[in-house]
Amino acid sequence: MTDKEYMDQGEQYLIHTYNRFKIVLDKGEGVYLYDVNGKKYLDFAAGIAVFALGYGNKEYNDALKAQIDKLIHTSNLYYNVPAIEAAKKVVEASGLKKAFFTNSGAEAIEGALKMAKRYAYDRDKNSDHEVIAMNHSFHGRTMGALALTGNSHYQEPFGPMISGIKFAEFNNLDSVKALINEKTCAIIVEPVQGEGGIYPATKEFMEGIRKICDDNDIIMICDEIQCGMGRTGKMYAFQHYNVKPDIITTAKALGCGVPVGAFVAGEKCCDSLVPGDHGTTYGGNPLATAAVSKVFDLFEEMNILEHVNEVSNYLEEQLDKLVEQYDNVVTRRGKGLMQGLVLTTPVIDTVNKAIEKGLLVISAGSDVLRMVPPLVITKENVDEMIEILSQCL
Ligand SMILES: *Cc1c(COP(=O)(O)O)cnc(C)c1O
Repeated sequence: MTDKEYMDQGEQYLIHTYNRFKIVLDKGEGVYLYDVNGKKYLDFAAGIAVFALGYGNKEYNDALKAQIDKLIHTSNLYYNVPAIEAAKKVVEASGLKKAFFTNSGAEAIEGALKMAKRYAYDRDKNSDHEVIAMNHSFHGRTMGALALTGNSHYQEPFGPMISGIKFAEFNNLDSVKALINEKTCAIIVEPVQGEGGIYPATKEFMEGIRKICDDNDIIMICDEIQCGMGRTGKMYAFQHYNVKPDIITTAKALGCGVPVGAFVAGEKCCDSLVPGDHGTTYGGNPLATAAVSKVFDLFEEMNILEHVNEVSNYLEEQLDKLVEQYDNVVTRRGKGLMQGLVLTTPVIDTVNKAIEKGLLVISAGSDVLRMVPPLVITKENVDEMIEILSQCL
């Protein structure tokens, strides 16, 4: 079949919830993807911040193949070795205490939300707790996660939302304080807002939220689904700040391509969910958690954090040059290998031009060109990206 025929069939059989770019991807190698016509793309999107190790990492692939031959699924009625090993690694990497594995980011959010509510319920036996989320946040598409997503465009057709969610302004501590009352059980924040436009939280904001939570016995949840797993140069983005959340959610690069997420909780609330409170059939299955486990091993072996810090300094320098050079590039925002360029011209036009020229970048919001490349990109890859992008601005 031609790529056109594949795309026509795709539109015939897949529910049209995405306006997909007009390419059919076929295989990957390192930081490059190839479409069914063999055209090569430099990948600065990584499947939306997922494929941190690049494509075709032999050790990763071998670990998965071995696990497929051994055991793929057990359910959570029994223990399995990869899940235990992976849980230990994500707990140690985050400095928290216990993990629950899910199949997606949104499910990790759902679990975190339930855990925070359960913690508050144990305290006052009320069932009407409130959660504070941020405007322009993104936490996922399931009903709980959607209710926390501060974007009315995503919510409106699907009301009523679950009740008790209030929205504050990101990086505005007073707007958070104004919403606190005795019903507040959790505050959820992305340390770097992703879909909302690549906005890093300020130090004052993160520390201020921690203090509000401490003073009022409120659970602080950091959504690390996009900004976690080394992307900002620390394993988790909250680690740039002098705070420790009570719960984090992680997914995207956690399994580097295998669908898996987790919520990870600290001392304060990690035992508030008890048998019967929460569950999942697939979550934490041996195949997915073997991937997680191998990802943590490879991050360490490959010194990923050091690499991210080095290459992202270079990326920032080069992107800042674009800001100086091009009138339609207003500013750069971001942390590590999570970078956004604010454009005055339609981002989608630039993204499409880049795809034509063999570069995959994505958007965040309506005016931000987003780059979330594999964490293994080199300075040469950055140069190559800049050369192509320059032709598209
Ligand atoms: C992608 C994302 C989610 C949702 O993850 P899914 O795996 O798509 O359900 C939640 N929060 C943030 C910050 C994300 O970037």
